[in-house]
Amino acid sequence: MDNITNEQAAELTLFRDSVRRFFAAEVVPHIPAWRQAGMVAREAWLRAGAAGLLCASMPAEFGGGGGDFRHEAILIEELAAIGFGDFAISLHNAIIAPYLLHYGTEAQKRRWLPRMAQGEMIAAIAMTEPDAGSDLQGIRTTARRVGDGYVINGQKTFISNGQLADLVIVAAKTRADAGAKGISLLAVETAGAHGFRRGRNLEKIGKHAQDTSELFFDDVVVPAENLLGGEPDRGFVQLMQQLPQERLVIAVGAVAAMEAAVTETIAHAKTRRAFGKSLFEFQNTRFVLAEAKTTAEVARAFLEECITRLLAGTLDVATAAMAKYWTTEMQGKVIDACLQIFGGYGYMAEYPIAHRFTDARVQRIYGGSNEIMKELIARSL
Ligand SMILES: Cc1cc2nc3c(=O)[nH]c(=O)nc-3n(C[C@H](O)[C@H](O)[C@H](O)COP(=O)(O)OP(=O)(O)OC[C@H]3O[C@@H](n4cnc5c(N)ncnc54)[C@H](O)[C@@H]3O)c2cc1C
Repeated sequence: MDNITNEQAAELTLFRDSVRRFFAAEVVPHIPAWRQAGMVAREAWLRAGAAGLLCASMPAEFGGGGGDFRHEAILIEELAAIGFGDFAISLHNAIIAPYLLHYGTEAQKRRWLPRMAQGEMIAAIAMTEPDAGSDLQGIRTTARRVGDGYVINGQKTFISNGQLADLVIVAAKTRADAGAKGISLLAVETAGAHGFRRGRNLEKIGKHAQDTSELFFDDVVVPAENLLGGEPDRGFVQLMQQLPQERLVIAVGAVAAMEAAVTETIAHAKTRRAFGKSLFEFQNTRFVLAEAKTTAEVARAFLEECITRLLAGTLDVATAAMAKYWTTEMQGKVIDACLQIFGGYGYMAEYPIAHRFTDARVQRIYGGSNEIMKELIARSL
């Protein structure tokens, strides 16, 4: 990243140190238990809030850390370093909180952001439905205006933080026959919301401590002031405007996971012995690692360029899509190659590389699938 003052660099280093210390003390020891439970404990969210890790890039006046995307990137990188992207801080901080900040009314920001910053409210965003994922315009959930409120009906699926969420931003049709132009975002406070129900915690092939759920809305009434921004039918535009940052969130995770995998694999290759030498002495191992390291470095350079543009407000949709698509494809490729160097140990769940492998797979699917990314890139050609 260019144009960074010494003072900013020092502040970011301090922030990284505190994040690293927090994860080492408050997260790493609990990972096996949380994987078993299928979710991160709520207390960890509260502790992360108390440590200043939640809403790191939100303004201080709303309880946030007053930082920017670089702080969010540090959180994602440090979670990748410990191999635990399951803790969906980045979704809460860098995807959902910005919706409230950018589109929320003053009252909405004051109501929800400080509680999100403290970890008292864990947030989720519910767009995907059983019959509408990539094709978001096809959602069937409705929000009907009745008196001074909205009545929400519908079903969502694959919702991250679904079991824990206290605040769900729901994409719903406020005008049934208007396609994308009839979508609105509404905030649902789940505590005491009649007609709101969580489905089971879905069983996944990776990210075992990330709760992912179906959510059901049967005549859930929310006051009109829960409509994001206070104006109906703006949801699709609001979603589209936030996409570049959301895609970078995924790209940062992809690059950091690759970097960590390469480092771990080099260490393994240098200590593991076969045929009287270390694995690292075989030309194949050296070449595979040379390729992996090169890929990670090239990905890092492009990512940093994208972050610089995001901070300058010039990151366009197509470039963000390139970052999401390419870094996640490379993440899959590099981690697969690294796992191979671990041999049988790479397939054992007690080895971080095994989790990195299964966790990587979803990166090409969510946040806009990589096929959709290519569509977006192609449209700009
Ligand atoms: C672990 C996990 C967490 C998630 N978290 C959330 C969340 O918090 N909130 C949320 O709202 N959603 C979430 N999702 C949903 C995710 O965003 C969707 O799964 C994703 O957008 C793809 O939608 P789909 O599953 O319906 O697949 P489909 O849209 O049915 O796509 C299936 C396949 O067809 C391809 N395809 C579709 N359209 C085209 C096209 N036009 N051209 C070429 N190929 C195409 C896709 O790329 C994909 O390969 C999550 C998913 C997972 C797995």
